[in-house]
Amino acid sequence: MSRHDEILAKPRPDPDDLAVLLGADAPAEQASLLAAAYAVKVRQVGPVVYFRGLFELSNRCTKDCLYCGIRRSNLNLERYTIPVDEILAGARWAYEQGYGSVVLQSGERNDPAFVDLITELVTKIRALSRDQLVITLSLGEQSEDTYRTWFRAGAERYLLRIETSDPDLYRRLHPADHSWERRRDCLRLLHHIGYQLGSGVMIGLPGQRVEQLANDILFFEQEQVVMIGMGPFIPHADTPLRDSIRNFAWKRHAQLALALRMIAVTRLYLQDVNIAAATALQTLAPDGREQGIAAGANVIMPNLTEPKYRSSYRLYDGKPCLDESATQCRGCLEARIASMGETIGFGQRGDSQRFLRRSFADAAGGVICQRS
Ligand code: SAM
Ligand code: SF4
Repeated sequence: MSRHDEILAKPRPDPDDLAVLLGADAPAEQASLLAAAYAVKVRQVGPVVYFRGLFELSNRCTKDCLYCGIRRSNLNLERYTIPVDEILAGARWAYEQGYGSVVLQSGERNDPAFVDLITELVTKIRALSRDQLVITLSLGEQSEDTYRTWFRAGAERYLLRIETSDPDLYRRLHPADHSWERRRDCLRLLHHIGYQLGSGVMIGLPGQRVEQLANDILFFEQEQVVMIGMGPFIPHADTPLRDSIRNFAWKRHAQLALALRMIAVTRLYLQDVNIAAATALQTLAPDGREQGIAAGANVIMPNLTEPKYRSSYRLYDGKPCLDESATQCRGCLEARIASMGETIGFGQRGDSQRFLRRSFADAAGGVICQRS
C-alpha cells in the first residue's frame, strides 16, 4: 500500500501526514483524497449544505493588504457603504427565504460611526427576524470593547482569516504596520468573548509551501477555530501582487486542485468543523463551489449584495456573478446542489458541530457562558 493510501486508511491523519496529502497532485491520489473527505463530511455533518447570505456592506478600508483589490491605496474604484434600510430589506428577504444565517462583511474601519452602524444593523436584523437569523461578522481587527459591543447586540459568529499561519509569509504580504501577532490576538479575544470562531487562509500564495498549509490546519485546531473560510489566492491587477504568480492563467487548474486538497485535508483532520466553499473557487471553475462541497465543505455563502455594488467589491480579478440578483444566485445554486444528492439546511442555524460539542462539554463541566 502506498503512503498516501495508508494515511487515508487511518481514522484520522496524523499531523505529519498533512503535507503528504496536500502535496499529492496526481489525479488518482487527488480523487481518492476528495472521496475520503466527502465521506467524513457526510458522516460528521450530514448530506446538508448550509447557506449564509453574504452582504458586502462596504468597500471602505483603512488597511492596505498587498493582495486585496479594495485596499486603501487602490484609487481605481468607487467607494460605497450600503444604506441601513437596504441591508435590512435584504436581511428580511433572506429570513423569508429560510436562510438561517447572514454574514456582514466589509473593509476594515475602527471609527465610532462604523461601530455604531454595525451595532444598529445587528440589533435590527435580530429584531426583524425575531432573533432567528444568526449573524456572522467579518469586519477585521477591532478592539475588545467593539467585539464585546457587537456580541452583546446579538452577533454570534466572527470570521477573521489569519491569511497564513506563518508570520514571515504574512509580513511579505502586508505593509510594515500590519501585524500577524495582533491578528492572532484578535482571534483569541473573539474566542474568549464567546463568538463561534471562524478563520481561514489564502491557498496558493506566492512562495507558499505545502508544509505551511499543513501548519495552517494545525493552527486552526490550536486556536479553537470551529468555522473555516478559506479559498484560493487570485491576483488583482490593481495591487502590488498583480504579477506575483507568473502565468497565473495557465495555473488556474493547479490552483483550484490545491484549494480542493486543502479543504479535503482540513475535513479529514478537523472532522466536525464547518467549512465554507469560498466564492473564489467559482472564479477558477464555474462549478468550483460544488467541487468544494464534494471535497468536504458544508457551507456556501450566496451573495445577497445588490448587483450595483458588487463590481466595486472586487477583491480579486474575475469575481463571478457580478450582475446576478440574489434570486438568480439562489436558483442556480439550489439546483446544482440538489443534483449532488445534498439538501439545503433551510430554516436551520447550521452551527458548527465542533462548537456545539465543546459548548456541551463546557456546560457539563460547569462553565457558564453569558452575554454580559
Ligand atoms: N476586511 C476584513 C478582513 O480583512 O478580515 C474582511 C473583508 S476581506 C475583503 C475578506 C478576505 O478576502 C480576506 O480575509 C482575504 O483572505 C480575502 N482576499 C482579499 N484579497 C484576495 C485575493 N486577491 N485573493 C483571494 N482572497 C482575497
Ligand atoms: Fe482591507 Fe480586508 Fe482587503 Fe485587507 S483584506 S485590504 S483589511 S478589505
